[in-house]
Amino acid sequence: MTPSDMPHEEFLEAGQEVLRWIADYLENIRDLPVLPRVQPGDVSAQLPVSAPETGEPIEDILRDFRNIIVPGNTHWNHPRFHGYFSVSASRPGILAEALSAALNVNAMVWKSSPAATELEVRVLSWVREWLGLPDTFFGTIYDTASISTMHGIIAAREFVDPESRTRGMRGDLTVYTSEHAHSSVEKGAMATGFGQDNVRKIAVDDRFRMLPGALAAALKEDVARGKRPCCVVPTVGTTSTTSIDPVREVVALAREYGAWVHVDGAYGGSAAIVPELRAQLMDGVELADSFVVNPHKWMFTPIDCSLFYTSRPDVFRRALALTPEYLKTAQDNIAVNLMEYGVPLGRRFRSLKLWFVMRYFGHQRMAAIIRSHIEWTREMASWIEADPRFELSAPAPLALVCFRMKGSDDLNRQLMDRINASGIAFLSHTVLNGRFVMRMSIGNVQTLRSDVELVWRTIQTEADALVNSSTTLSK
Ligand code: PLP
Repeated sequence: MTPSDMPHEEFLEAGQEVLRWIADYLENIRDLPVLPRVQPGDVSAQLPVSAPETGEPIEDILRDFRNIIVPGNTHWNHPRFHGYFSVSASRPGILAEALSAALNVNAMVWKSSPAATELEVRVLSWVREWLGLPDTFFGTIYDTASISTMHGIIAAREFVDPESRTRGMRGDLTVYTSEHAHSSVEKGAMATGFGQDNVRKIAVDDRFRMLPGALAAALKEDVARGKRPCCVVPTVGTTSTTSIDPVREVVALAREYGAWVHVDGAYGGSAAIVPELRAQLMDGVELADSFVVNPHKWMFTPIDCSLFYTSRPDVFRRALALTPEYLKTAQDNIAVNLMEYGVPLGRRFRSLKLWFVMRYFGHQRMAAIIRSHIEWTREMASWIEADPRFELSAPAPLALVCFRMKGSDDLNRQLMDRINASGIAFLSHTVLNGRFVMRMSIGNVQTLRSDVELVWRTIQTEADALVNSSTTLSK
């Protein structure tokens, strides 16, 4: 009888080819342009409009993967991908992802996957130890920080208004975050029914950190207007500049009003595994109610892997636990059922990749890699400062440098476009104090100091070419 799935021998052969392709891709990735040279529609033009009626040989599928998908791909795993936040899927993490797909586990309750449930709990306590968080923090894994933060906001609502679960949302609950917070905070408030009008964006200081005085004023003013402060979200490592909000002061203010504190450490949290950085990054986080950190950003773990910790798991379960008859098990009273800690029922085996990565590299090596990213960022900042054509646009406390060429926004936009068109590197941008600035994030496990040097040389060369072309044009 023909098996329904791919036969064993064919799978082995194709599997070896796939593994070889992955290994060669990662080894030779520097030869590829970081950004694909495609226009919108170029990829879809090569794809049939309808799916095949009958099966196709795996060789044809792999050929189209190589010829259509790869050239249309932005290479996030490239060591000179410096846009947004530089991330990486390290090799041990990639192997674990393949194994996770093979197991195809759905860890909704302990019984549906004892190993995935218990590994998730254990790996989360490993990371908690590396971050120096108290063991009162219970952790679980979601796909993204946006979803983790939304869960923080849901728990905050339960904490402040325990009846919301049954009665629904009331209109006076407010959320506070800085002007520099990630949009996921506002989105979380929108999705959970707080409404954008109830989100306060607190002003920042000249280093882009939330101003406690402005937070205090907003809290006071809202209470006077009949609002009920519910959730305050400081950030450790903001998206635009990696600024670090004063979490301890924010917690103290939130406590005066009985509000929940959720700390967004999606990016910066990973750097707290470096022992000498921990005090600066985690100061006050131990007092917060919840915290998110994304190993898929800066802990060499393939996307998606976002860790959500809470020091009040009881509140969390109160907000979201709901067990229909068909999910009840004999172990409900003695085992952790992860579905009780979030909206999703289904749960991928995400802890497997983090386990592989943490064990393969170990704490010291992971901290050393992060340390070198920060060191190269400082070097990059010093090169920028030493070139009179450029200026730094923000402090660089972690591994992101914000800078601009002295001149118009348009000039900077053109420079960034030229750098990105070169294929050598990918930079992204933000706007600080009303000015367009370029951002260069260093965080890929394969990045070398020589990559950073090459990017700086490319920036200088493209700046020369840009100045020359505008001088020629104005002649
Ligand atoms: N928080 C911060 C500080 C971020 O920088 C980002 C994304 O870059 C997010 C949250 C959202 O992350 P995710 O894509 O995992 O939802």
